Amino acid sequence: MSDATNLLLRSNLKQLRLPTIAAEFSKLAREAAEANENYEQYLLRLTELEVAARGANAIAARIRQASFPVVKDFDTFDFSAVPALSKPKVLELARGEWLQQRGNACFIGSPGTGKTHLAIAVGLAACRQGKRVRFYTAATLVTRLEEAQKQYQLDRVLGQLDRLDLLICDELGYLSFSRVGAELLFQVFAERYERKSLLITSNLAFSDWGQVFQGERMTAALLDRLTHRCHIFEMNGESFRFRESMKNKKSRKGETDKS
Ligand code: ADP
Ligand code: MG
Repeated sequence: MSDATNLLLRSNLKQLRLPTIAAEFSKLAREAAEANENYEQYLLRLTELEVAARGANAIAARIRQASFPVVKDFDTFDFSAVPALSKPKVLELARGEWLQQRGNACFIGSPGTGKTHLAIAVGLAACRQGKRVRFYTAATLVTRLEEAQKQYQLDRVLGQLDRLDLLICDELGYLSFSRVGAELLFQVFAERYERKSLLITSNLAFSDWGQVFQGERMTAALLDRLTHRCHIFEMNGESFRFRESMKNKKSRKGETDKS
C-alpha cells in the first residue's frame, strides 16, 4: 500500500473513531494475504476486533464509575472460612438475575467476615454485565446527600443515584446519622423500592436498625420495603483478618521456636 493511501486510511479511521482497526489493519492484512483470506473475511476480523475492544472499554468504564475502594473478586474469597454462607447462593447473585428483578441483597454480620469483599465482587460482576453500579459507604453517601441538600443540588444527586442499576451501601450501622441524614438515606432507599436494586452491608442485625434510622416507624417502613425480595446473607463468625494475623503470628512463632 502506498504511503498516501495508508495516511488517508488512518485519517478516515480516526474520523470514524475506529482506533482498533487503525492499529491492526496492516498486520491483519499481511496475515490475510498469507492465509489467502478473501476481503470479507479480512473485514470481518477487523470489525470483530473493534467490537471486542469497545465491549472491554465499556466494562472498564463501568468499573471506574462504580468507585470501588479496592478491586476484590470471588476468586480470592475463601468460602470455606464462612461455612454458614451458601456459596451457590452468593454466586447466583453474581449471575445478576436479581438485578433484572429489581431485588435487594444484604450482607449482615460481624466485622472482618468478608461483607465488603463480597459486596465489591457482586458489584464487579454487575459491571461486567454492563450494569451501572456505584459503591458508597453509608457515611459518605449520607454526607453527599447532606451536602447536596445544603447546596440546593439534592434533586440532581438523587437523579444520579436513580440512574444506577445497583447502589451499594457499605457499613450501614457503624455510624449513626443526624435526623436529616437518616431521612435522606431513607428517601434514597425507599425510592429504589421495586425499581432499582440495593445492596447493603451491615454489622447490625435488622432488629437494631432503629439505632441508625432513628424512630421505629421509619425503620419499620424501611425494613418492610428492603426485605421484600431481598437475598439476605448472614456472615457472623470470626474475623478473617483476625484469623489471618493469628495464623501469621503462629507461623512466625514456629520459626523462632525452631531457631
Ligand atoms: P467486613 O466488610 O465484613 O468487615 P472485609 O470484606 O473488609 O470484611 O474483609 C476484611 C479483609 O479480609 C479483606 O481484606 C478481605 O478481602 C479479607 N477477607 C475476609 N473474608 C475473607 C474470605 N472468606 N476469604 C478471603 N479473604 C477474606
Ligand atoms: Mg466492611
